[in-house]
Amino acid sequence: MFTTPGPLDFVALARDALAFWDRHDVFARLRAKNRGGPRWSFLDGPITANNPMGVHHARGRTYKDVFQRYKAMCGFDQRFQNGFDCQGLWVEVEVERALGMNGKAEIEQMGLEAFARACRERVLRFAALQTEQSRKLGQWMDWPASYYTMSNENVAYIWHFLQVCHRRGWVARGHRVMPWCVRCGTSISQHEMLEAYVELTHRSVVVAMPIAGRERAALLTWTTTPWTLPANVALAVHPELVYEGVAVGDRLYYVAAAARSRFPGLGDVRERVAGAQLVGLRYVGPFDELAAQRGVEHRVIPWSDVAADEGTGVVHVAPGCGQEDFELGRRHGLATVAPAGEDGCYGTGFGPFAGRSVLDATPAVVAALRATGVLVHEAPYRHRYPTCWRCGQDLIFRLVDEWFLRADELRPLARATNAEVAWHPEHMRLRMDDWLANMGDWCISRKRYWGLPLPFYLCAACERLTVVGSVAELRALAVDPRAVDALPELHRPWVDAVVIRCPGCGGEVRRVAEVGDCWLDGGIVPFSTLRYLEDREHWARWFPADFVVEMAAQIRGWFYAMLFMSVALEGRAPYRTVMAHDRVLGDDGREMHKSWGNAVWFDEAVERMGPDVIRYVFASQPVTEPIRFGYAAGREVTRRFLTLWNVYTLFVTYANLDRPSLAADAAAPADATGLESWILSRLQTTVRDVRTALDGYHLRRAVQTLEVFIQDDLSNWYVRRRRRWFWKGEMTGEKLVAYRTLHHVLVRVAQMLAPVTPFVAEHLYRALVVRGAADVDEAPVSVHLSAFPEPDASLENPELEAGVALVRRALSAGLAARNAAKLKVRQPLALAIVSGPSALATWLARFDGDVREELNVETLDVGPVASVPADAAWLAAAHDGDVTVAVDTRLTPALERLGLARHFVHQVQMLRKEAGLAVADRIRLSVAADADQRAVLEEHEVYIRGETLAVALVFDNPRDGSTVREVKLQGRVATVALSRAEPTGVSQAPRLGDCLPATDRRISPFHP
Ligand SMILES: [Zn+2]
Ligand SMILES: [Zn+2]
Repeated sequence: MFTTPGPLDFVALARDALAFWDRHDVFARLRAKNRGGPRWSFLDGPITANNPMGVHHARGRTYKDVFQRYKAMCGFDQRFQNGFDCQGLWVEVEVERALGMNGKAEIEQMGLEAFARACRERVLRFAALQTEQSRKLGQWMDWPASYYTMSNENVAYIWHFLQVCHRRGWVARGHRVMPWCVRCGTSISQHEMLEAYVELTHRSVVVAMPIAGRERAALLTWTTTPWTLPANVALAVHPELVYEGVAVGDRLYYVAAAARSRFPGLGDVRERVAGAQLVGLRYVGPFDELAAQRGVEHRVIPWSDVAADEGTGVVHVAPGCGQEDFELGRRHGLATVAPAGEDGCYGTGFGPFAGRSVLDATPAVVAALRATGVLVHEAPYRHRYPTCWRCGQDLIFRLVDEWFLRADELRPLARATNAEVAWHPEHMRLRMDDWLANMGDWCISRKRYWGLPLPFYLCAACERLTVVGSVAELRALAVDPRAVDALPELHRPWVDAVVIRCPGCGGEVRRVAEVGDCWLDGGIVPFSTLRYLEDREHWARWFPADFVVEMAAQIRGWFYAMLFMSVALEGRAPYRTVMAHDRVLGDDGREMHKSWGNAVWFDEAVERMGPDVIRYVFASQPVTEPIRFGYAAGREVTRRFLTLWNVYTLFVTYANLDRPSLAADAAAPADATGLESWILSRLQTTVRDVRTALDGYHLRRAVQTLEVFIQDDLSNWYVRRRRRWFWKGEMTGEKLVAYRTLHHVLVRVAQMLAPVTPFVAEHLYRALVVRGAADVDEAPVSVHLSAFPEPDASLENPELEAGVALVRRALSAGLAARNAAKLKVRQPLALAIVSGPSALATWLARFDGDVREELNVETLDVGPVASVPADAAWLAAAHDGDVTVAVDTRLTPALERLGLARHFVHQVQMLRKEAGLAVADRIRLSVAADADQRAVLEEHEVYIRGETLAVALVFDNPRDGSTVREVKLQGRVATVALSRAEPTGVSQAPRLGDCLPATDRRISPFHP
């Protein structure tokens, strides 16, 4: 006996399966089973352990788990190591927020020790929470073995990497202009900038810069960052652009000719000159009186990047405030005036502005310009401007000293190795290549606290840079080795206290204050988690990773950092296959946002939809596209799964009545023919296609293949055509084959679903194979311990598959023809004429009964429909490709009466369902009808009673306890009353009738 399934409840299925896996150590058994098998190496991109997991995390985690489970079912040995990302600005900022602090000054006040502890505590708390959430999603990982990027091992591995870079001459300290967050007090690196640009409105100003030695003549320059004007040292013009001298009052202003019309009041052109003629002019800056400007000579320089499509065509150059400006300054030997300090405030030397934040200095600067009469124009200006990816503040550009890894030597190697990586989707390779081709030096330092302590010791006396490569080395160099032994962890402030002796001059040296870019933390894991330095053999067994999968944005993040570090250390890519997926959006297509009402919380989604549904939503959509996630998408998945659930319910219901002898391991019957042979062949094709898709990391294709099989082949054809066999009372040989076939197919489907929807698959498998036993000899106790199906060539029959496909096309044409004539499928017709390819006749003959039943016609003529006169008004025809079907639309009185009987049966079936009757329950029917109606029902009484399991059909008034319904027959109302009949002891066949749940009919396009 099988346990009769209840309604499909994904939440309950997940709860039961999780409890079962725990109780029986299923994951540990899986790992034990595969130990020593072929290896499949997956490398987990660490999740930032900083907040609860969101549904957007569930997308990548679903993909990770699907492929790990699939490979496990295929027998591959795996590490199942999860990772947590623990350091960097994102953790620091959240800790600041949680503690009600804002800015570095308050962290310093709190003390670095307490701050570091608070960061660590937060990471551990959320790592534990994310572990719990991931388990609920069904993710199988060796959770206790998760790696943490804040661990001493991980830190020491990065030290090793940096030392290798230093030996190659790649470590450089740079004096450069970098994007800078004033609030966070840190530089922002190139890869952090890419999503930083947002639409903002700033103030643009046009300022007159009087030309030295020329009375009342000035160059007009334009800027959207007025705060940088006190740092102006030059103006740039395009040598080949035409500039015009325009009279305004008694003054002459120079602007690019193409820019003139952009500013009101510049009408009276007096002079036209080429930009080259302006180059070399000296001019008076707007803030020359400031101490910081003392001795600066302002001049006009040539620059071929100047364009006239924005501003005045005369570019304000401030090498202390812009990256391009800085480069220009270097090329032309310009002075560098750097106004902003680490806190974003003007330094001393900036007179009235000193101590004021540059972010809100615009009004003061504009007022000063107006006061001196050089402000020509001002207006709000909307543009894309970079903001801090962490705190959202406007970024500024300022001159800083940072540490860099030089990329020139590595770049071609990285590009060459990337060319050998398999990318999914393929075009991501180009995106990576583009990123690599354009990558500048990697800015690896951050002026922060909770991060990798850069192992750089720069000797003030002899300028020697020592890069420490390990803790042992630090100890060997330390002035007091005991200080190293006493380190509680390799973080600030503790590690800062260690002083080393300079190998160059013997002087004492302290570590630089900076910590590392957090991408170093994740980038090193192909080495640190695989014991590269301790056990090279172990490392070589698991490196490179066969598969990694993360958001596409990681091309500039984790994928890139790993590639950089791996090429530096080993000259190889760290992965063979990379899958890059898109984002998760709200169901309205916008970013999820609390205040927009479209945010879905992971915990709530798990509890309301169930984890299988979440996983299926992600697995069934293209990885390249953003996914709209919401409860509607979840309901759609549940609806689709009902088809499978109904087939399973039908199987159990009838198997429990018939008690067929089934193979304990659900093996396919050896003696299948006809439709059984067909569905088994379709199953092999499906298995083959699903395997090929999963082996090629085409998850969506695998899911779609499986879904087509379940919906179309299994439910909508095989089960649909076989209902009557199961419904028949007697247990025939062919019925037994049908039971064995369906049993086999359902178990194989469960196995193929297992990686994607592990909970419902576990339920199906255990219900159908294990059947409540704690263990069975013939089969594993869990679907996840069973082997992923392999195609069985002996069951394949492509010719039969093609034949049935042809037959089904004839059916779809036939139904279209009925539809065109507005004839309900329930109405029997006399004749259908079919024409098509030559093979069609043979196949229609073979499935003649099926076709006539499906089309609900008495006779099937296979012949040239073309021979029927086109104007035969009694024929309705339709095509499906080269198959044409015409149906005889003429209804005889006998056909009409049979149609009425069918309609009546259908109404009674609904009534049975309303009355909550079991499949095999007998009923009594009493009908109040007029004479004509009664004549129809009496004529077809045997048919009606057989279909509805009625032991009696009487014509009188309803009895007590009946379920009553009004039905329309021949346009008039009749009343039907149904009551359960007492068991008679007479063995009568249980009959299916219409007892399939409503959804089964809903998905079916056919309603006979
Ligand atoms: Zn910030
Ligand atoms: Zn020295």
